[in-house]
Amino acid sequence: MDVQKKKIAIIGAGPMGLACAYHLVNQNYVVDVYEADDRLGGMSASFDFDGLTIERYYHFICKTDTSLFELLDELNLSDKLRWHNTKMGFYYQGKLYPWGSPMHLLTFPKLNFISKLRYALHVFYTKSVSNWDKLDQQSATTWIRKWIGDKAYYLLWDYLFEMKFYEYKHNISAAWIGTRIKRIALSRKNLLTETLGYLENGSDTLLNALQQAIEAKQGNIYLQRPIEEVVMKNDQVQGIKVNGELLHYDTVMSTVPLPYVPRIMPKLPQTVLDKIQAIQNCGVVCVILKLSQPLTVNFWLNINDENILIPGLIEYTNLSPLVDHILYAPFYMPHTHAHYKNSNEYFLEATLDYCQRVNPEFSQDWVKASRVSRYDYAQPICSSDFYNQLPAIKTPIEGLLIADTSYYYPEDRSISESVQLGKSLAKLLE
Ligand SMILES: Cc1cc2nc3c(=O)[nH]c(=O)nc-3n(C[C@H](O)[C@H](O)[C@H](O)COP(=O)(O)OP(=O)(O)OC[C@H]3O[C@@H](n4cnc5c(N)ncnc54)[C@H](O)[C@@H]3O)c2cc1C
Repeated sequence: MDVQKKKIAIIGAGPMGLACAYHLVNQNYVVDVYEADDRLGGMSASFDFDGLTIERYYHFICKTDTSLFELLDELNLSDKLRWHNTKMGFYYQGKLYPWGSPMHLLTFPKLNFISKLRYALHVFYTKSVSNWDKLDQQSATTWIRKWIGDKAYYLLWDYLFEMKFYEYKHNISAAWIGTRIKRIALSRKNLLTETLGYLENGSDTLLNALQQAIEAKQGNIYLQRPIEEVVMKNDQVQGIKVNGELLHYDTVMSTVPLPYVPRIMPKLPQTVLDKIQAIQNCGVVCVILKLSQPLTVNFWLNINDENILIPGLIEYTNLSPLVDHILYAPFYMPHTHAHYKNSNEYFLEATLDYCQRVNPEFSQDWVKASRVSRYDYAQPICSSDFYNQLPAIKTPIEGLLIADTSYYYPEDRSISESVQLGKSLAKLLE
């Protein structure tokens, strides 16, 4: 068969699936992308928020997101990238403190000088790490406690782990948290100023350009077409089942969150299924409010307060200037958590209460609109020794490749890492 005419099906039209399709059509493959949702983007998808098109989940860009910058450049979108000096806050036991610079650390009244010095040294050390192998073997909570001591760990970190990972909080790999610390620490204009980026008109700017580039090269993107099954026979992929119909492909590439894989690929070898099923994942329920005025001056507000059951509040307008003030409240939790099944109203009420606590002047009259979105598999739990837990991207089934956001471990989820992995997936077929 002429290799240039190979037919490829990509499952998922998030940044990874689209980036993969974009590179494959440029290599002259015949590419069809299948997306279950009614829109592009997966976790980075947008919605119409009473006339404002905005992401369902907040997105910021860091100065280290080089794969994203390369893709934006190829798509002639570099001029859509904007940078903003952002402020961070820390809400600790009922009080809001400025955070995020050496001055703020020095003037923070709740830690002694030694704890502050240890905290700063930990960040400096982490910024310098480039080989994460040793940290892959360690637990994040033990590693941080060793560096900064118990007092600073419980004050600054424990609540963040608890409110995101709950029963898995001690299972997180030190390498995973290390890359997160490094990514943020390097996104600065200088020692005093954090600088974060965003795309004009949000992630849709990238997603729509990818769609255009794919379609310009005769690639197809099918929305609202959930793949029911990846069909395989004699250790070879046959194609995919959509609406009960078998469609033949030479290669199938899955970019859907890993927990969906056993459902659509029940015939994968048991050893692969076992590995996939052993990897846990947290869901997110994310409240978004459109406010008539800002709640605080911060883009990111870290929280450690027993009355507020989330690790932070994100005021997007303090990054990307918009007419309305947009605030996100993410409730991450494993599906086993009792609250996960609570109604949207429950999460909305909780968010309004948190706003009131953070800024006592907040009034419900400020809320012009609200919305609650859920993503069932939003955050893989990358535990210690994670490198050894992932099954190979090239499965034992010929022509079947699987990847998702956990595959760029130790890096955390990001659009930049997803587009980079999408490109690497395409290269595997070269
Ligand atoms: C709350 C939150 C905040 C975030 N903040 C940031 C940030 O600030 N900066 C940043 O860079 N990144 C951020 N991210 C991460 C970023 O959104 C993701 O890394 C990226 O969107 C992942 O893209 P993906 O294509 O790899 O996966 P996904 O976005 O998960 O895409 C997978 C796609 O597969 C589809 N699918 C599932 N099942 C099927 C099926 N059976 N058939 C067909 N299609 C199917 C899904 O609908 C989805 O569209 C955030 C994510 C969340 C949830």
